[in-house]
Amino acid sequence: MKTKSHKPNKVAIVTLGCSKNTVDSEVIQSQLENGKVHTVHEDTKGADTVIINTCGFIDNAKQESIDTILDFAQEKKAGNLDNLIVTGCLSERYKADLSPEIPEVDKWYGTFELPQLLNNLGVDYRKELIGERKSSVAKHYAYMKISEGCDRPCSFCAIPLMRGKHVSKSMDQLVGEAKALVKDGIKEIMLIAQDSTYYGIDLYGERKLAELMDRLSDVVGLDWIRLHYAYPSKFPFDVLPIMNSKPNICKYLDIPIQHISDNVLKSMRRGITKRRTEEVLDRIQSEVENIALRTTLLVGHPGEYDQDFEELKDFVSRYKFNRLGVFTYSHEDGTHAGTLEDHVSEQIKSTRADEIMAIQHDISWAHNQKLIGTNQKVIIDRIEGDSYIGRTQFDSPEVDNEVIISLNEGYLRVGDFANTHITGAESFDLIAKLIK
Ligand code: SF4
Repeated sequence: MKTKSHKPNKVAIVTLGCSKNTVDSEVIQSQLENGKVHTVHEDTKGADTVIINTCGFIDNAKQESIDTILDFAQEKKAGNLDNLIVTGCLSERYKADLSPEIPEVDKWYGTFELPQLLNNLGVDYRKELIGERKSSVAKHYAYMKISEGCDRPCSFCAIPLMRGKHVSKSMDQLVGEAKALVKDGIKEIMLIAQDSTYYGIDLYGERKLAELMDRLSDVVGLDWIRLHYAYPSKFPFDVLPIMNSKPNICKYLDIPIQHISDNVLKSMRRGITKRRTEEVLDRIQSEVENIALRTTLLVGHPGEYDQDFEELKDFVSRYKFNRLGVFTYSHEDGTHAGTLEDHVSEQIKSTRADEIMAIQHDISWAHNQKLIGTNQKVIIDRIEGDSYIGRTQFDSPEVDNEVIISLNEGYLRVGDFANTHITGAESFDLIAKLIK
């Protein structure tokens, strides 16, 4: 493949969607920077080339991606941009339809076309750089994608259409990646994937998440390791003793449940029943004391009727998740559910989502009240007005609760850990003083 001779002066990467896209953008930046192309995240001022890393998951996300592309198409038309490149999930899924519609885009690349994208910018893809990247989200925490793609058949999900089959990264590569991030000042890593609990099956013939977490916890300087995107069916319980025995593995688990009624779980093709889901959650909560559970629910899926939703509300009230997010069903072409009747109105979908969050609001408030008077280790994420804003080990960045500490409490830097005493609590945030 002939590499273009002309290299851009400044490339800006605009990243949309999930943390997995963030990691992909960091990999693009690392390859371009090593190819002597000045590359930044988000700051498009003075950039002659913009790469938009899109999301194609659900309607709202797709619309946000298209709006962003159209904004930069305007910039291109106005002569403020030489080269406009689109990559990521939306491009993977719809480039054939979109490219004739938006001629200002110079190139559309799918999710597996990094070498072609780099060549377009005069850089050769370098395999030896795999695992080398800088965190674009913070100097003290980073996301680490342990695998790509997904083998699950969830009826509502278009991700396998855009990300392909499940492919695990090797443990050696991931440990190397963690060491490189720590050397760069990273103290906290979020382990992410489409389905993190499937880790290793393709590469080692068996689930290896526990072993991976064990090896990562031995990386010197890695203070917090956090597990996201666990799948409830066939959950690898050998992860739990590792969580208990390793102080740098957060007592935190993100486990999207999506729904609880057997009727809807079946329609969603989740491969698990209500009884089994509750058994899995009960065992996790009994084996890891005070573990913070985060989950994601989906309302309005084809097949969800009033009694199914009542069951879901009852489940949320009984299980009292520490952190919870809820999505409304989006009718996605190419998915199994996309062939079913989308019989729940948008109005009812959003009313149901609001009802779930209203229940969760009170649950979160009650959880936070119990933390008043306790001491908590907090990592400082930023300074906002007259306060330090941080998180406990029970909170993941950008999605969970925060801890507010007055600047008057003492001198702290972003990325520092601080020992704090919780003095107050709101629905989603805590107030703390420093322990001197
Ligand atoms: S586990 Fe299900 S919802 Fe998650 S990425 Fe895979 S198919 Fe989609």
